[in-house]
Amino acid sequence: MKKNVVILGGGLAGLAAADELLNKNYNVLILEKAPFLGGLASSFVMENEQIPRFNHHIINSNKITIEYLNRYNLMGNNTWKKIKMAMGVDSKIHGVNSPLELLKFSYLSFWGRIKMGLFGAYLIFLMNPEKIRDNLDAESWLLKYAGKENTIKIWHHLYAKNKFNINLNEISAKQFAHRLYEKEGYDSFTFPTKGIQGMIDGLEKDIIKKGGKILTKTDIIELEVKKKKIKYSNNYKTIEEEYDILINTIPVPELLKFTKNLPSHYTENIKKLRYTPVVGLCFGTKEFLNKRYYWINLFNERIHVVYQHSLIIDKYKSKVSWCVRYGGSEEDFKLSDEEIKQIYLKTLKKYFPDMQVNWCFVFREKYAEPIYDRDYLNYAPSYKTPVEGFYNSGIQVTFPKIRNMNVALESGIKAAEIIEKDFSWFS
Ligand SMILES: Cc1cc2nc3c(=O)[nH]c(=O)nc-3n(C[C@H](O)[C@H](O)[C@H](O)COP(=O)(O)OP(=O)(O)OC[C@H]3O[C@@H](n4cnc5c(N)ncnc54)[C@H](O)[C@@H]3O)c2cc1C
Repeated sequence: MKKNVVILGGGLAGLAAADELLNKNYNVLILEKAPFLGGLASSFVMENEQIPRFNHHIINSNKITIEYLNRYNLMGNNTWKKIKMAMGVDSKIHGVNSPLELLKFSYLSFWGRIKMGLFGAYLIFLMNPEKIRDNLDAESWLLKYAGKENTIKIWHHLYAKNKFNINLNEISAKQFAHRLYEKEGYDSFTFPTKGIQGMIDGLEKDIIKKGGKILTKTDIIELEVKKKKIKYSNNYKTIEEEYDILINTIPVPELLKFTKNLPSHYTENIKKLRYTPVVGLCFGTKEFLNKRYYWINLFNERIHVVYQHSLIIDKYKSKVSWCVRYGGSEEDFKLSDEEIKQIYLKTLKKYFPDMQVNWCFVFREKYAEPIYDRDYLNYAPSYKTPVEGFYNSGIQVTFPKIRNMNVALESGIKAAEIIEKDFSWFS
């Protein structure tokens, strides 16, 4: 008898877990709320091409993502590029990659620019994020290594205000350092010629081929973890199933809406998990906004980052870019798409006055990333839970690693390995 596994969520973590478990002695059912798979990494179709809803790129260190992309032969003749980063302040763009550009970065004092260069060198050559204390806050750590001016004028804006909309002294230094350790300003970037959607479609096909079942547009009505029963509606039918093993990959607040009989101390803990939202535009323009900078951080603006996707992969009819607002973007959820387009494009015009937009789409996501604060480890869910047969996976369990496709896939594989170990007596 095979064990029955239900996976909540058909994002990368859920798909990777399903794919692994189907190689072993398990039946797998994925329940996904959206009409499509891939979650945060999903794409939409424009100009006959699949384009990620939100800014996505792959860097050299994303070995697991690259393995999956190769498995589905998606890389094509892709190229790896060292990208250029810039900071946008008061309608002006300042490059910060080379020592010369840094020296001209007038937003900081002369000593501040030197200190920023030294901090960059420290990140590249010396920093070991594993050595940072679990509960140390990002502000204390930055004051020590980046100096006061950089902490206040750069990192407070980029990571506290723009990203999570909380104070720097609430953010985990360890997770922040892991993020910086990815060396995104220094590593090589790519995007597969055939898109990342092919990885999601490939996993879907493999899961179905191996006998797994995937239901999209599914509303979960009730999950009874002690009795191992789940009730959901799909295609106008209400279905009740019993399961042996359940893997949750969906955001914790969504899980808690329909879950019954979790131990109260466990619920009280995971309830503390907060997420930063994101509202973004994916848009096509006639020309590049700027021929040099892939990644432009904006200070004190309604939008926070601009990414020029076509600088990495110039294969679309238009030049494709994204702009996103993270921290504070919940206030934009109540605006219409037209209002968001108007406000965001007006901000972009300050920096790129000649921009001519061919098309533009608005995307919103309530749960873009867990807020990895310095107490995260005290309350966050881990793979195993106090309930027998109930596991977690996905970006809420991957602290202190950076949140990306690589860790989501890795967490799906890891959840499958843990389950296989726990149930190996059985197979
Ligand atoms: C703006 C942005 C930029 C990013 N940039 C990059 C990048 O450049 N490179 C990179 O590698 N990664 C990037 N990422 C991160 C990457 O997309 C994620 O880490 C990864 O896709 C997360 O996968 P997951 O399966 O853990 O979570 P999710 O993708 O969130 O999957 C969870 C799934 O659960 C579903 N779900 C939610 N509620 C329910 C419910 N009630 N019932 C059933 N299903 C439900 C969701 O629809 C979703 O499909 C970015 C993410 C964002 C938001």
